Amino acid sequence: METLKIKALIAKMSMQGVQISPDVLNIILKHNNAVNILEEVINRLSCMEEKPLMITPEVISDIIKINHSEEEFIHASNIPEDIEVVFEPTEHILSKSLSKDFKNYFISRYLHLKKILLTERFDVKGAIDIAKINNIKNRKDIFGNTIKIICIISEKHIGKNHITFSVEDLTGSISVIVPEKNIDLFRKAQRILLNEVVCIEGKILNEGIIVATDIIQPELTKPSNNTNVKQTMYAVLISDLHIGSRYFMRNAFNRFLLWLNGVLGDEKIRRIARCVKYLIVAGDIVDGIGVYPNQEKELAIKDLKKQYEVAAYYFSQIPQHIKVIIIPGNHDATRQALPSTALYKEYAYPLYKLDNVIILGDPAYVKLHGSLFLITHGKSLDDIMLNIPELKYDTPAKAMVELLRRRHIAPVYGGQTLIAPEEEDYMIITKTPHVFHAGHLHTFEYTYYKGVTVVNSGTWQEQTEYMKKMGIYPDPAKAVIINLCNNTVQSVINFKEEKEEVSIYEGF
Ligand code: FE
Ligand code: ZN
Repeated sequence: METLKIKALIAKMSMQGVQISPDVLNIILKHNNAVNILEEVINRLSCMEEKPLMITPEVISDIIKINHSEEEFIHASNIPEDIEVVFEPTEHILSKSLSKDFKNYFISRYLHLKKILLTERFDVKGAIDIAKINNIKNRKDIFGNTIKIICIISEKHIGKNHITFSVEDLTGSISVIVPEKNIDLFRKAQRILLNEVVCIEGKILNEGIIVATDIIQPELTKPSNNTNVKQTMYAVLISDLHIGSRYFMRNAFNRFLLWLNGVLGDEKIRRIARCVKYLIVAGDIVDGIGVYPNQEKELAIKDLKKQYEVAAYYFSQIPQHIKVIIIPGNHDATRQALPSTALYKEYAYPLYKLDNVIILGDPAYVKLHGSLFLITHGKSLDDIMLNIPELKYDTPAKAMVELLRRRHIAPVYGGQTLIAPEEEDYMIITKTPHVFHAGHLHTFEYTYYKGVTVVNSGTWQEQTEYMKKMGIYPDPAKAVIINLCNNTVQSVINFKEEKEEVSIYEGF
């Protein structure tokens, strides 16, 4: 696709009577943003009264500043910021009161996800209400036919040679059987979680039971193309600092701050720092107080306000031109039930005082130069790990993919993740992001799923006693660099190794 587009752009250029020299073309093609650069060249050419016959390296530097040499990277301080907070839940949470029960919340969840299924998935067309099947008169007419229902999973039983679900919609409830002999579907059914909204296709048995032939999850649509960014510009993703813990990796974090200030690392790494425009922190800024039994023994700072004071001291060392976006984690001062408010000002005011820091709730959708970031702490990943056995702690991004498939930040209710009975479900993934960022599991991984860059950025806390007991081995002190030109992982910088200042590996 890319090659075809490039060929078409070169052809367009020659239609304007302009040739491009092979040297210049090679420089552009090496750049990961070749299409954008060529488009920009064409734009500029169309504005010129006297066009050059040939684009040579001299000519191109007059037309456009492209990043063909190390010196020509534009320093991020010279690029104006472009941030749009598309959604964050704090105001909604604070302005509305909670329901007494979860009825409205689950109706909202069902209706939103039903709409997503009906508008984004053609294989869901023709879904009927459960009441239609439960009506005995109707059942005779549809007996043996293949039908589809859009439903929420209310119960799940794994039997000897089948899985049975109780499912509901707004009109009634029904049982669904998935026999073991349909192996692929049986495996799919094993991964279906309670409270998920799915479309079930199946045949009706006489007794008003459905034998499933397919289970369809909402899934993602491809993210939109965004080509706003012309210069090399990076967003850095980190998470789970746990400032205040005895295990917070002060030295590694200091090295990270020195790097952001352009004074650490070899030239290649410093060059990356010069192009950093944004830093996104996915929660657990501080270690908090009383989060788990005997936590006090593991705290270096035993006062929550002090923890935020120290956090603000660290964050104040981030260069002013880098905009910092912070959401809360389960260790932070926020509402523990999801969705969560931005950090409580009463505790985190020293962070609020910093001019370049933006503090949002969880989940948050933020557009940076047109690239949509979905940021959540990832508390619900605990339930995902528990309920989908093949997932491992060292592959946290794969657990995040399970959230994308369900189009929901916290699909499981009644497990370890607290959910607040809001009138509306704010945790539905309504828009496909370009980048999905979480933390919480303290292990690091990134992956690509249906055009979305999925990053779990790990932690800056060493293994605690609690983790030792749980058998969790953190993968700490990494900064993930997202290139805003293409929303992919440009590189991952490891600040842990004491010997070689910092080490880097490039994205695949
Ligand atoms: Fe954490
Ligand atoms: Zn956490």
